[in-house]
Amino acid sequence: MARTPTALIIEDEQDIANLVAFHLRREGIESSHAKSGRRGLEMARACAPDIVVLDLMLPDLDGIEVCRRLREDHATKHTPIVMLTARGSETDIVHGIESGADDYVTKPFSARVLVARLRNALRRRGDAPGASAQESLLTRVSGRLVVDLDRHTVEVDRTSIALTTTEFAMLLALARRPGFVRTRDQIIASVHGSNTVLSQRTIDVHITAIRRKLGELGPAIETVRGVGYRLSDLADAPTD
Ligand code: CA
Repeated sequence: MARTPTALIIEDEQDIANLVAFHLRREGIESSHAKSGRRGLEMARACAPDIVVLDLMLPDLDGIEVCRRLREDHATKHTPIVMLTARGSETDIVHGIESGADDYVTKPFSARVLVARLRNALRRRGDAPGASAQESLLTRVSGRLVVDLDRHTVEVDRTSIALTTTEFAMLLALARRPGFVRTRDQIIASVHGSNTVLSQRTIDVHITAIRRKLGELGPAIETVRGVGYRLSDLADAPTD
């Protein structure tokens, strides 16, 4: 039997920490709690949690800095991090994702959304960069969408579709982390070097083109308002 997953909640407000812990416990996840960023970093290193729930506004180090340091530390480099942010703080969300957070939940959060995001982050744990030797060759998002880096091809339902170099690089950036939002800057950075220039203004145009070419799977590329894009996790999608 698999061991019980553990979470570390880094949150200065006791009520919110209790609420998160309550929902985690119902999912069979044990949690520990740190009330400050510094304490959170110490505990993350000591406990090696399976997931970190990180508040953005903390009394000492803010969540962005904590996230950055967790990503720098060898022990927590690949630990999923879900950030808690205030609703509407899109700039904070963008900074959080760019500092290495996998996903975010806005406060006040619904239990359903929180649990779904945490489950998703836990499930995707093995997909961290470097976790799979196959990753450099093939990103199989699901049985329906296959992005083949080696052959530079994309297949939808086993039918090959033609993408431009830019479109391919953009789809790959999203397909590497299905279910997680990528900011516009992250997408631009991953396309950089593929002999094309992608700007903030043209990114939407390319996304529209990719969606059209993906046909039925087009809506799987979701717009995350004010933040970026996400390729929805197709793992549960029907295959026929
Ligand atoms: Ca706080």
